[in-house]
Amino acid sequence: MERTLILIKPDGVERGHVGDILSRLEKVGLKIAGMKMVWPKRDDVDRHYTLTDEWVQGVFAKAKQKYDALGQAFPYSEAKEYGAAIKAGLMEFLQSGPVVAMVLEGEQSVALVRKLVGATEPASAAPGTIRGDFSLDSYALSNGQNRPLRNLIHASGTVEEARNEIAVWFAADELHDYPHSLTNILYDPLHFTPKKG
Ligand code: ADP
Repeated sequence: MERTLILIKPDGVERGHVGDILSRLEKVGLKIAGMKMVWPKRDDVDRHYTLTDEWVQGVFAKAKQKYDALGQAFPYSEAKEYGAAIKAGLMEFLQSGPVVAMVLEGEQSVALVRKLVGATEPASAAPGTIRGDFSLDSYALSNGQNRPLRNLIHASGTVEEARNEIAVWFAADELHDYPHSLTNILYDPLHFTPKKG
């Protein structure tokens, strides 16, 4: 079954939204395979946010697109420099307090959780999403303060990313296999068949 990695970031924990966030993820039918509170170390964050070209280009393009849509000049020209500054900010942010790390399991869990989490920038995340409902942080606000967006939660972007990120935060024996009430309802084709007496 597909697994994904979630971190409730220090802002989500400090604001007391762990329960709200967890309840949205549980209600949709995802099973918690692992969960713990961790005060991240430098090496954890470094391994989690790998400064690949793809990530740097994505960070740059998403922010530029928002400035373009607002008809504002994007004040940065170097994607590499911009990405490195965001990563440096994330290193500090994630080491500033405890996070809640979770592995969730379920059909297409990676895409499903990203849908529930919403866009990177809370100000443009759709209503009904975690980032859209619990924050108004924006690129303008965060870039103006030279800090990363405080958007409450991280969720893996792809199945491969999830595999790598789960290995950063969890040992194999911290992940659990157990029966969940939705196992039958969602995954057993014979569950709702007439019971023959
Ligand atoms: P996501 O968390 O939506 O997958 P990214 O992987 O692109 O987004 O970025 C990782 C994190 O870095 C974001 O969640 C956010 O906290 C921060 N971040 C990304 N882009 C920016 C930006 N342009 N300005 C400030 N913070 C950013």
